[in-house]
Amino acid sequence: MLPPIFPIMLDIRIVLVGTSHPGNIGAAARAMKTMGLTRLILVSPQIFPSAEATARAAGADDILHAAQVCVTLEEAIADCGLVIGSSARSRHLAWPTMDARAAGMLAVTQATLSPVAFVFGNERTGLTNKELDHCQRMAHIPTRPDYSSLNLAAAVQVITYEVRMATLAREGHASNQEETSRISAPVLEMERFYTHLEQTLSEIGFLDPARPRLLMRRLRRLFNRAQPDTVEVNFLRGILSAMQRLNKS
Ligand code: SAH
Repeated sequence: MLPPIFPIMLDIRIVLVGTSHPGNIGAAARAMKTMGLTRLILVSPQIFPSAEATARAAGADDILHAAQVCVTLEEAIADCGLVIGSSARSRHLAWPTMDARAAGMLAVTQATLSPVAFVFGNERTGLTNKELDHCQRMAHIPTRPDYSSLNLAAAVQVITYEVRMATLAREGHASNQEETSRISAPVLEMERFYTHLEQTLSEIGFLDPARPRLLMRRLRRLFNRAQPDTVEVNFLRGILSAMQRLNKS
């Protein structure tokens, strides 16, 4: 018997950032459709729509037609409670990294509470650090270390396969799954918090805007790892406002 498509539609979206080759967009749509995912968001694609994308989609044109095109990554993920960057590289400042399997399981658990995004970078340059700043986790497909870069659509295929496996496992063993009842704050609220934090740190002289170093990146990493909920973010912003008032008085 064939496994069912997702009985509960989970909002696990695939976000492709700055894709150069339209063929990869089509192949990614095809990969998604085979694994039961439907929501594709394209951030500033170099060429879209295109006949090449449609040809490579091979019957997944419904996914391409419904694909949303955004100018910035922030727009694509604004309502997401969990954003997972997919990367071929390990970087200087280690983001919390998990393998594709663990990422698939985390995404499926989280998606029952809020939308989840998997973000993929440009074919040549991958995800920039600025793009990774929006990610709470990084997913890596464990390749051999000296030849680690998959074709973009192949990476989408592996990640979406893991999402499907995690969904099927969850349906079979729903009662064994640990439920998290906390809904983490959406990206938009986190961004407002980071702006407020940066402002306050500079007002109290902790952050020198002329020499910011990696402070904000490190702090983002800390708070993204914690995945605070809306109440917690408001609480933190209340503390910042109190510091600002005291500093001005
Ligand atoms: N030269 C780039 C590779 C880009 S491949 C780099 O070094 O980052 C295009 C995209 O495919 C990547 O941004 C990433 O999202 C995905 N990808 C490729 N290989 C991957 C891997 N081993 N694990 C996870 N994602 C991968």
